[in-house]
Order: sequence, then C-alpha cells, then structure tokens
Amino acid sequence: MDTWPSPAVPVLPGNGGTLRLFDTASGSVRDTAPGGAARMYVCGITPYDATHLGHAATYLAFDLVYRVWLDAGRGPVHYVQNVTDVDDPLLERAAHTGENWTELAEREIQLFRDDMTALRVLPPHEYVGAVEAIPEITEAVGRLLERDGAYQLDDDVYFPVSAATGFGAESHYDRQTMLRLFAERGGDPQRHGKRDPLDSLLWRSRRVGEPYWETPLGAGRPGWHIECSVIALNRLGMGFDVQGGGSDLIFPHHEHSAAHAEALTGEAPFARHYVHTGMVGLDGEKMSKSRGNLVLVSKLRAARVDPMAIRLALLDGHYRADREWTGGRLKAAEARLARWRAATALAAAPPAESLLRAVRARLADDLDTPGALTAVDGYVAAALDGDALPAGAGPGGPRLLRDLVDALLGVAL
Ligand code: ZN
Repeated sequence: MDTWPSPAVPVLPGNGGTLRLFDTASGSVRDTAPGGAARMYVCGITPYDATHLGHAATYLAFDLVYRVWLDAGRGPVHYVQNVTDVDDPLLERAAHTGENWTELAEREIQLFRDDMTALRVLPPHEYVGAVEAIPEITEAVGRLLERDGAYQLDDDVYFPVSAATGFGAESHYDRQTMLRLFAERGGDPQRHGKRDPLDSLLWRSRRVGEPYWETPLGAGRPGWHIECSVIALNRLGMGFDVQGGGSDLIFPHHEHSAAHAEALTGEAPFARHYVHTGMVGLDGEKMSKSRGNLVLVSKLRAARVDPMAIRLALLDGHYRADREWTGGRLKAAEARLARWRAATALAAAPPAESLLRAVRARLADDLDTPGALTAVDGYVAAALDGDALPAGAGPGGPRLLRDLVDALLGVAL
C-alpha cells in the first residue's frame, strides 16, 4: 500500500560510527548492521486507534535507527513495515461502533500517514497490508503443513511450539509468564484440542459475520504472527538487522514470528537484533484505547501544537524506558525548540563540529537521545551567549546546527 512522503535528510560532513543497540534476545548492547546496507522490519499499526503517543514514540525510535545508519554509511536502508489491516481488535472496534471495518482501517491508516509525515518520520520502502499479503501467507502456511510445522484443528491451522527449536530464545520468559501474556495479548491458551496451550493460530477459517478470503487453505483469514513473519522473510530474508516494536510485542508476537520463520527456512536467527521500545503512560497507566487514556498526535496537531515539539518531547526520554506523558513535557519541549531556533537564526555562532561528534556518539550508544539533546542544549546556550563568542565563530555554526539536528534527530528548526 502507499507509504507517506519522505522528508529530505541533509548529508553531514564525515561519517557517524557503528550504531549499538540493546538486543532483547541476547540481553546486551551490541553493534548493529555489521557490513553492508542495513535491513529493518518494524511492526506496524492495527488501524483502529492511530496514532497515540505510544505509537509515535515507537516509530520515532526506529526513525532514529534509520537516520543513524544513513549517517554511518549503512544505506540504502531496506526498511519494511506492515499494517495489520485485518485482525480481531480492528473487527471488534468496527462492530462496536457499527462502522464498516475496511472504512475504519482506511481512515486510520491515512491518519497514521498524516501523523508520520507531520512528525517527519522517514517512511518504510515497503509498506505492506496483511490483506495484500494473503497469497504469500497462505503459501507459507501450506509449506508448514507439508513439513509438520503446522497442524489443523477443525478448519483452523495452528503452529506447534514443539516444532520450534529454541522457542523462548527471544523473550526468555518462563512458561507461566508466557501463558499469562499469551492470554492477555490475543492468544487462545484455553482452546480445546490444541497440542500445547501456547500454540498460535496461523489460519482462522471463515466465521459467520467475519471477513474471509477464498484460498488454497480454504476460506478464512491469516493469524497475526505469521503475517509479520512472511512479510519480513519475503522482503528481507533471514538474519536481517533489526526486528522492532513496542515492548508489548516481545511475547507472543515476536517470539512466534521468529519461530514461524525459523520453521519455514530451517535457519536462525530471524533477526540479529530484537529491539523494543518502552510504553508511554498517562496517569500511571499504559496508553491504550481500552483504558480510554489515549493522547492522539492528530488531536495535538489540531490544537496547533508544533509537531517538532511533540518530537522533542518524546525524544527527551530514552526509547527503552517506560515514560509518563505530561503537559509539562510538552511545555519544556516547546521552550527548547524556541531556544534552538533562536540559535540557528544567529549570524554567527561557535563552530559546531564538536557538537556533531558529541551527538553522533550519544546516538550511536543505544540511542541516548536525552544525552544528545543535552549536548545540543549546551551548544545553544553558548551560542546565545553572544558575549562569549570564541575565535572561529561564524555562520557555519548555525548552519551545521540546523543540519545535524535535522539529519540525526529529525527536527526541522
Ligand atoms: Zn509484527
């Protein structure tokens, strides 16, 4: 499906260093993209509650991964993202409001594109809906059935976790935790007849009142984990650099997606890094439609909040940390944005080469955005203190400040 327009990315002098990121599977911070162009898959939205600040924080984190890779010479980055445009939460929402589910999905996907454009998030090269991918998903499920990597239960198809070598190697959760999270996050551990309660649905046969497609597997629709598994595998191959998403996708979604791909290919790993972003909360609760505590990017934009201030407010916390959204964060970001803009408007400011080195170093270190913002703050404070201009001050400083903040942090000043 159509993606959204790409903002231009200024090219900076020299190159940034290797990006190191925390990998959930190994539990350590490691180098990414060893050699050559980088490949990334980020799980996309289920289009029924786009785009709250939790979504925005996640896609901003992977936008920075992309930007740091470009700056480090790891381009052209092959970036794939999906849209789960048919799944239970979307259908439940449509049934609740009485809206046609395809119209709900189309409207929310367009809202997401508009929000990403306003936030200057670099778009994926391939933006793929589950509905578009049904032929390739059914082909993959068919192959799993042929090699005992899947079994039928009534007319549905399940993935047996017993077929996965190393199941649990991504999340490292114990079985009790897996069972709890599986029940909370769309799984069906109670279903009678499954070989193991943790087995996940690959194909859901036609149900009364639900959308379905006629396929070689029969009439039905795909499960959630196999969707991402196949879309990523068919475009990026095995062993791509980063599989990304919110920390609520660690299990079951990413564990099962990896297990499906590994069962399909007989190879491992699915991804070299599993990278997860923290949750954004409001009033002590994770932001979610069911709790009714969503702060939507579109609502903030409609209230004439500068999207660059939203961006700065979210980058002021580390991507892995669970964060609270407060009005105070937005106010502080607006004040910071005004100071940075004032510095770029100066006729002369100190040389910014050392600032470029500092921002590159902070971001390469597991995306330390609070550290990068503090480094820019220090430069801006010195630049705005006109009495203390050092030798070498000139128009190059403000220009490089604007370019580096744009290229590496995605903030247009
Ligand atoms: Zn996914």
